[in-house]
Amino acid sequence: MTEIPLQQHIAPSGEQMTVRDLASCPPPERWQDWMEYDARAWPRKVERRYELIPTICFNCEAACGLLAYVDKESGSIKKFEGNPYHPGSRGRNCAKGPATINQVNDPERILYPLKRAGKRGEGKWERTTWDEALDTFASTIRAAIVEDRRDEVMYHVGRPGHDGYMERVLGAWGVDGHNSHTNVCSSSARFGYQLWSGIDRPSPDHANARFILLISSHLETGHYFNPQAQRIIEGKMKGAKLAVMDPRLSNTASMADYWLPTWPGSETAVLLAMVHILLAEQLYNLDFVRRWVNWQEYLAAEHRDETQTFEHFIEVLLDLYAPYTPAFAAKESGLSEEVIIDIARQIGHAGTAFAAHTWRAATAGNLGGWQVSRALWFLSVLTGSVGTPGGTAPNAWNKFVPAPFLKPKPSEIWNELLFPPEYPLANYEMSILLPYFLREGRGKLAAYFTRVYNPVWTNPDGTSWIEMLTNEQQVELHAALTPVWSETAWYADYVLPMGVGSERHDLMSQETHAARWIGFRQPVLRVYAERRGQPVHYTYETNPGEVWEEDEFWIELSWRIDPDGSLGIRRYFESPYRPGEKLGILEYYRWIFENSVPGLPEAAARENLTPLEFMQKYGAFEIPQEQAPVFRLHERSLSPTDLQDTQIDEQSGVIRRNGSAVGVLIDGKACEGFPTPSRKLEFYSATLKEWGWPEYSAPSTIDSHVHPSAIHPEQGEYLLIPTFRLPTLIHTRSGNSKWLYEISNANPVWIHPVDAARIGVDTGDMVRVTTDIGHYVNRAWVTEGIRPGIVACSHHLGRWRLETSEGTDRWASALVELKRAENGAWRMRHREGVRPFESADPDSSRIFWREGGVHQNLTFPVHPDPISGMHCWHQKVTVEPAREGDRYGDVFVDTNKAYEVYRQWLSMTRPQLDRTDGLRRPLWMIRPYRPAASAFKR
Ligand code: SF4
Repeated sequence: MTEIPLQQHIAPSGEQMTVRDLASCPPPERWQDWMEYDARAWPRKVERRYELIPTICFNCEAACGLLAYVDKESGSIKKFEGNPYHPGSRGRNCAKGPATINQVNDPERILYPLKRAGKRGEGKWERTTWDEALDTFASTIRAAIVEDRRDEVMYHVGRPGHDGYMERVLGAWGVDGHNSHTNVCSSSARFGYQLWSGIDRPSPDHANARFILLISSHLETGHYFNPQAQRIIEGKMKGAKLAVMDPRLSNTASMADYWLPTWPGSETAVLLAMVHILLAEQLYNLDFVRRWVNWQEYLAAEHRDETQTFEHFIEVLLDLYAPYTPAFAAKESGLSEEVIIDIARQIGHAGTAFAAHTWRAATAGNLGGWQVSRALWFLSVLTGSVGTPGGTAPNAWNKFVPAPFLKPKPSEIWNELLFPPEYPLANYEMSILLPYFLREGRGKLAAYFTRVYNPVWTNPDGTSWIEMLTNEQQVELHAALTPVWSETAWYADYVLPMGVGSERHDLMSQETHAARWIGFRQPVLRVYAERRGQPVHYTYETNPGEVWEEDEFWIELSWRIDPDGSLGIRRYFESPYRPGEKLGILEYYRWIFENSVPGLPEAAARENLTPLEFMQKYGAFEIPQEQAPVFRLHERSLSPTDLQDTQIDEQSGVIRRNGSAVGVLIDGKACEGFPTPSRKLEFYSATLKEWGWPEYSAPSTIDSHVHPSAIHPEQGEYLLIPTFRLPTLIHTRSGNSKWLYEISNANPVWIHPVDAARIGVDTGDMVRVTTDIGHYVNRAWVTEGIRPGIVACSHHLGRWRLETSEGTDRWASALVELKRAENGAWRMRHREGVRPFESADPDSSRIFWREGGVHQNLTFPVHPDPISGMHCWHQKVTVEPAREGDRYGDVFVDTNKAYEVYRQWLSMTRPQLDRTDGLRRPLWMIRPYRPAASAFKR
């Protein structure tokens, strides 16, 4: 085989960079004028000249780099490929990255602001102006602020495009109104990580690991899938072994050395059995555990009358985890004892090069799922692989969020619609309970924004969301800020079209590997126009139709809320370069790049560029490690300046300033530690004990609501896994990507051959799946890729619309009839599936897929975990052959029953209303938008 020559380039960090196997990747010195032959003209050689402009993919959270190829003849974007100068993705993308071009050219996209012309949900729309929409919202929000109804303004986000931007906007307005999708996604996994380290996400260094354990399929199906997946393969090529715990044979599991198809909910038992083995066989990192685990606090609190030594702590641990034998874990999970022991030993031998990751999956499916991430991190702690090369770091060590100019003071308001008293420890907002809270009269919304968020389709019990959104007493004014039609936008008052990934600015940084970088999402055609000397004041001037970008929308809205500056809001949206004048969006980023990113001004200067020009040219920058080290940051010494005005607690060694822990003494050295109350890794959580859950103060198992004891196969009951993604789709946002739907257009029910035989169905036969509040009808897919007793159905399909040619994109949606009966019952029936349609894109008449999937989430009641607040997705269901009259796509649901299930789960909480300190929530716990400390008190 011919060796492809190395190409030497200068990387954005200024380092020498080697690009191998990317011979077709244009070097940056030719990005302004790149020639390719027109593939469609083949065999003729017709030259096409392009300008290449970097931006960032917006089709999942990973924030991979893209290069837009702008055709110099037409001035339009021809295609997107990977940006090799992006440190996370290194030129490689999944299918969803290049499919951005479908989203740009989608003939179904919304090009102008729309206002409803009939009742909510009636489907009558008229075109309006941005001025009218902005003024309507500005006057409503201004009134709520002036009248001190600051908990009536809510911004509800599905996919934030930019860390910190909206928190700054809401802070400037002085409202506690940030709501997110996180408690249908990751709040449970986050909670387990946060308990240990005060930071709620993991960042594995897969490329340098010796053993990798994943409890999810996310590497191939969504979460950081591409940047982490390429590094897992790198690790494997260097000899690492990979184990994947997943009841379903995902693509990730198929690449593993060990597929561990555990019974869902038993993962904690398996991990604690591995803990047991590491302890019993002394495969743990004694020095790390002695120095960095809060064992003294644990012994003092729980074993007060016993010897207070580390050796005794280990004895106590051996006792505590003695019941978690491999035999116990094997019985719970269905794995063999031998494989549990084998993997535990390999983890122990990997030591500080043990990388581990879980996201969604088991943590998101089960009651007590947060104990899965907590038990997994326990293995990282025992092996001493926290923040090491080849280990797993807290994500904040591998992510960089630069500060903007002029940060608003946090608001003094606490919004109980977001953090209600029943869930003082909820890791994120109790987003899924909003319809029930409004139904119970706990509040109302004067102005509600949904942004890249589609709760009617994505959340459990979507029809309760329809009931809420159509109730004008509960939600007075609702705008859907969205690049694409959605089931939720249909019930809004305003649909305001926002740009897709290549039509907006954002600053992104993710924990893709052991480094810190920022990526600059930029509107490609604006950059193209500006480079040609065309003045552009607002991004919408170069976007199609009247499509705006969110950043500019919030600046404009804030000026209209406070036109004369008297509310103190406007000043946060004034230019740092032109005092008193409106902030231009490029000025916002220019200030950050000039002032908040270590090493960027110097790297730019080396190329005779300003920091902004540098970011516009390369689209990403990796902060040099000497300015942003990434390993063992807990060991960093506190300087004499850091120690000024601090006190040291003699017993615990915790160093405090004004009552807040800022460091800890370790073997006599003042270290930074972790952002926990003890500044150590908290095996023992005094927080859980003090806040009503003493039985969980140390990692342990919690029986899931779908524990085998709760499922009765003899009664036809199964466990339904509804959480898994498809590698090619991404929730609502891919409905406008024809290439992606061409690949994935059905979500059949996975069922094992043994179960299929028992039920009497074969692949393609219709089955009825019945939950606690309704049922749906779908096709079966008989496969050995799922454990017996378990069925699975991806949540990525089943999009629908109510009108023939309006609503959710026709590439993706079925035309349905949705009827509401008097007694809370709703019925959905497909009128017709996906069909070819006429449009400016000839491909729309070539659609060959027909059914389009089934919307299963409508039939799920909410299951909020009483501690983390996470919706526990897994369902106990019955599965039977479809009954007479059942049709593909049928959905039946009873929202009154859904409300009953919500009340049952609510009754499992332990509100802490009579605390003497009056706190609503531990002060040390994070919130996405954090109000002032005073707001934490009742
Ligand atoms: S992994 Fe995510 S960010 Fe990267 S190309 Fe795919 S969808 Fe885009």
